Amino acid sequence: MQVERNGSPGQARFLVTEVRVKLTDDPRNKLKAYASVTIDDAFVVRDLKIIDGAKGPFVAMPSRKLADHCKHCHHKNHMRAAFCNQCGGKLDPERAPRDSRGRARLHADLAHPINSTTRIELHKAVVLAYIEEIETQQRAGASYRPKDFDDLDQLNDILDAEYIDELERRQDERERRRRELHVPPAGGGVAQGTG
Ligand SMILES: [Zn+2]
Repeated sequence: MQVERNGSPGQARFLVTEVRVKLTDDPRNKLKAYASVTIDDAFVVRDLKIIDGAKGPFVAMPSRKLADHCKHCHHKNHMRAAFCNQCGGKLDPERAPRDSRGRARLHADLAHPINSTTRIELHKAVVLAYIEEIETQQRAGASYRPKDFDDLDQLNDILDAEYIDELERRQDERERRRRELHVPPAGGGVAQGTG
């Protein structure tokens, strides 16, 4: 899977030289697959996720939940926690930072593209690899063997609805901005994820 290099400004300036996809096996799970991408045969990013969104599959970059420190004991708590995990002190569950439209920001991407061209190219490569992996699985039937991946912590296997909602809002926001700029929709019908 390669994204063509194009040196002009605003273009993707790297090759996605490999995408590895591991399908999740629970059909009820909105998290459809994990992916890792290799950039220019030189740098690997793992823990991208392919999510079954309202408008088709999209890619979420590796991310962490945001946290803050308890005023009383300084223990770190998740932004939605109503009580401190250590001292039991009461916390405001609405204290998360807000985006420009006043909605809670609960997660931050650990690695992400910084322009829309790169985002679109990366996401196309990942979604295409995902579709290819599904086809491989269908062709192979019972003899299908998933890609060999390190077994990462499985806590993220079931994505919480609030996170998916946050990702879809960000995606809608990007599409709205693109429409405002009169840029034709890109990505060949492949929905774009976070970044
Ligand atoms: Zn505390």
